[in-house]
Amino acid sequence: MKAAVVTEFKAPLRIQDLPKPEPGANEILVRIEASGVCHTDIHAAHGDWPVKPTPPFIPGHEAVGVIEAMGPGDTGRHVGERVALAWLGKACGHCDYCISGWETLCEQQANTGYSINGGYAEYALADGRYAVPVPDGVTAFDAAPLTCAGVTTYKAIKMARVRPAERVAIFGIGGLGHLALQYARIVGGIVIGVDVEQPKLDLARSLGADHVVNARTSDPVEEIKKLGGADVAVALAAAPRSFEQAFQSLRRGGRLVCVALPADGNITLPIFETVLFGISVIGSIVGTRQDLAEVFQLHQAGRTSVIATGRKLDDINACFDDVLAGRVPARLVLEF
Ligand SMILES: [Zn+2]
Ligand SMILES: [Zn+2]
Repeated sequence: MKAAVVTEFKAPLRIQDLPKPEPGANEILVRIEASGVCHTDIHAAHGDWPVKPTPPFIPGHEAVGVIEAMGPGDTGRHVGERVALAWLGKACGHCDYCISGWETLCEQQANTGYSINGGYAEYALADGRYAVPVPDGVTAFDAAPLTCAGVTTYKAIKMARVRPAERVAIFGIGGLGHLALQYARIVGGIVIGVDVEQPKLDLARSLGADHVVNARTSDPVEEIKKLGGADVAVALAAAPRSFEQAFQSLRRGGRLVCVALPADGNITLPIFETVLFGISVIGSIVGTRQDLAEVFQLHQAGRTSVIATGRKLDDINACFDDVLAGRVPARLVLEF
């Protein structure tokens, strides 16, 4: 099978011909149809974060395809079924996080495209118990960005407990942001899209943002304060400065939801304002299998639009360059 492999950090990925893997106990072999390109894959390939993957490995955690073979064990899945392989490749299933609906915090988890090989390949192995079925009516192409960008922002909106008519500022309108603003609208939020690129603000408008703010030509904190301040600010841009702006744009009682993972990021919180204004700072990491199932249901019901451009696996290094240069309208999806 053809695969894009990280052989060393910061080097271009190598297209290699590898043997098709054999499924072991509880494993499924998935023939990949579509695989989204997430900024996390670039961090993985560069070894940017404190916990690093071990080269050689295959990135990709927005992988969607059809089950071609299965190892021994009943995982609830069957051959021929379309499934999504998300960041949460596997968890222990019995710790207090796992049994209380917080499998995404399991300390024993394995992550697709990071600690286990992912979807930048014609085939991928996965634990069938953690693969999420893709319902009829949701294409593999749309399902791919929903598998990380979708579920991650859906969970962030859930974590913020957005109530109808609350103002929700989305900092960063890209692969994640274009979906975040749609989930914020679904729960009744008044949405403010913030970005530094005009085409992304136009995209936010076309997807229903009530207000847009260009953070390059104006001060987003001032602009959002003019609107009354944000009840919720979701930080999706991998720039530490935008986290601070998101915090400062909050009104009293506001919630900052941190989602993006800048390579080296610290934010300084003013204790006085945080305490006096009753501000909450929330970290939100991806979503559970149930969250992803809900994301697919909403898409199947026609409540969300996925904006993505199709590319080929051989093009992966150019895809990374385009993402890093901000040339991608929302999401790139490798099509097989
Ligand atoms: Zn991702
Ligand atoms: Zn666990």
